[in-house]
Amino acid sequence: MSTAPAVLNVAATHVGTEALGPGVRSALWVQGCPFHCAGCVAPDWIPDRPARRATPGELAAELLADPRVTGLTLSGGEPMRQAAGLAEVVGIAREIRDVSVICFTGYRLERLRAQPPDPGVPALLAAVDVLIDGRYVAALDDGRGLRGSSNQRIHHLTRRLADSGHDLDRGPRSAEIAIRGPEALLIGVPPPGLPAAFDTAVDAVRGRMSPGRKHHRER
Ligand code: SF4
Repeated sequence: MSTAPAVLNVAATHVGTEALGPGVRSALWVQGCPFHCAGCVAPDWIPDRPARRATPGELAAELLADPRVTGLTLSGGEPMRQAAGLAEVVGIAREIRDVSVICFTGYRLERLRAQPPDPGVPALLAAVDVLIDGRYVAALDDGRGLRGSSNQRIHHLTRRLADSGHDLDRGPRSAEIAIRGPEALLIGVPPPGLPAAFDTAVDAVRGRMSPGRKHHRER
């Protein structure tokens, strides 16, 4: 009996960013998150609703289309709710290129190991080099590091990025803005104040041009 191929529910992708970890990376954000953190800057991606449907093979090819890409960053939404499909994306991608993998999750690592929310969690954890865990707490957002708030932890599950020279816990943040037609995508973990400034700028542009959509990223 054959099993149906995994299909992921994808909020967005971006090929080639330097704002989500060491080197040039591609980002994959899944749709749907159970946590509803106050202050989440990706509220459009919290509802568990159909978004873009894509297979692991399609996504792996897309994310590695830029030959400069040396890593993948998985975020959302909640990646661990689509862990099986994401593990397949990583597996196929690594047949093309030996990319490093950073994954954000609102779950704690201990919970993922003891009570995985998706059957694919062990496979995804086995493929991830750096896991950034825990829910976003706005009051603990100190403007540092790749994590959104200081309660979130950086787990080097492998040594691959541990000696990269990047302090993922307390290093400086950076963010990028990508314009795609009527949409603006804020990529990275923005310093405090940037999302509000981004909102204001997008609203100002929308006031002068045809209506568009905007997305924020916190992680
Ligand atoms: S901050 Fe992250 S974990 Fe929290 S609701 Fe937003 S996407 Fe989910």
